[in-house]
Amino acid sequence: MDSVDCVVVGAGVVGLAVARQLAKAGREVIVLEAAEGIGTVTSSRNSEVIHAGIYYKAGSLMARFCVAGKRLLYRYCDEHGVPYRNCGKLIVATNPAETEKLQGIRAHAEANGVEGMRLLSGSEARTMEPALACEAALLSPSTGILDSHAYMLSLRGEIEDAGGALAFHTPLLRAKVAGGVIEVETGGEQPMTLACRLLVNAAGLNAPDVARLIDGMPPSLAPTPYLAKGNYFSCNARAPFTRLIYPVPEPGGLGVHLTLDMAGQARFGPDVEWIDTIDYAVDPARAERFYPAIRKYWPALPDGALMPSYSGIRPKIVPPAVASQDFVVQGPRDHGVDGLINLFGIESPGLTSSLAIAAHVGELTES
Ligand SMILES: Cc1cc2nc3c(=O)[nH]c(=O)nc-3n(C[C@H](O)[C@H](O)[C@H](O)COP(=O)(O)OP(=O)(O)OC[C@H]3O[C@@H](n4cnc5c(N)ncnc54)[C@H](O)[C@@H]3O)c2cc1C
Repeated sequence: MDSVDCVVVGAGVVGLAVARQLAKAGREVIVLEAAEGIGTVTSSRNSEVIHAGIYYKAGSLMARFCVAGKRLLYRYCDEHGVPYRNCGKLIVATNPAETEKLQGIRAHAEANGVEGMRLLSGSEARTMEPALACEAALLSPSTGILDSHAYMLSLRGEIEDAGGALAFHTPLLRAKVAGGVIEVETGGEQPMTLACRLLVNAAGLNAPDVARLIDGMPPSLAPTPYLAKGNYFSCNARAPFTRLIYPVPEPGGLGVHLTLDMAGQARFGPDVEWIDTIDYAVDPARAERFYPAIRKYWPALPDGALMPSYSGIRPKIVPPAVASQDFVVQGPRDHGVDGLINLFGIESPGLTSSLAIAAHVGELTES
């Protein structure tokens, strides 16, 4: 049986960041990926926003990793030539009740360590974005966007430069603890059995299922997965905004917001649609809910401008009735399996947080 120091399951942005962290620390790493390449699942089906860390519950892993990850990510993009734009975001209030909430959102963000948040009157906001309709707004200057594919390619390059390897079409089928190591069995064209000292489960939507394939891992500690799809609509009219525009959040979601890609193209979404099986098709009928929501802050949105675009699925580990979840990083102290780290529920802001999650996994494996 071949042996390797570390196996990372999943070549999404989080698995890649973790593998890079381990490889750069001098450890021997192989990334097992079921698909044909890097980042083909949730990591290529998101908004590519570098989130500031505004809304997450104080002290949560999401709040900590987002704020730390954002700083690490901006620095990474600078140092590695990954295209990004620190464009900022406006949270817009379109009635008095929402205007009242902005102050509280700012206080919450500041408690999370988000710097530079600024309250604006409606006219100050319109000086920045003349097409905007709002009573007041909150500016988040540290929000940005990035080319997430360029970022993942850069992570892959660093893994390989540090001697790590990636195996595509190579799903983990099962694993077991034996004689102080974890034996991993893979499928694919060239099935293999590998003995490793560290196994990191970064399988995204499949992470709870992968955990259940590991003999010795208490099944009760693998959460039940739930799927919350987010649908996007693109806009065939030129959207006259240079910043990301978000409504004041409503219970259960961030509301229909506008994000921009690196080419300046606007897209709206993601909304929230709970589903039972993975299906990425976008139902054009959902546009009916988008028009009135967008016109609250962009009244000039032309009829017929919204086109179904793509969707992504949030790897939820709480059912719809539960308002929010946190990232779960499970190590040997939690489940009793030496050398196993599970990453569950890595939904947004997982892209922003990727380098901070990787640093945390690195610390866990040192202790
Ligand atoms: C709609 C939406 C919008 C989002 N927007 C943002 C945003 O703007 N900013 C932000 O910071 N975050 C955002 N996120 C969150 C972000 O996209 C995710 O947190 C991140 O992509 C998760 O990366 P991952 O590597 O954990 O998972 P994935 O990208 O899903 O990667 C997991 C990998 O594991 C592989 N795999 C699964 N099972 C196995 C197996 N048995 N063996 C081997 N490989 C396996 C899969 O093929 C996949 O490649 C968004 C998410 C969604 C759904």
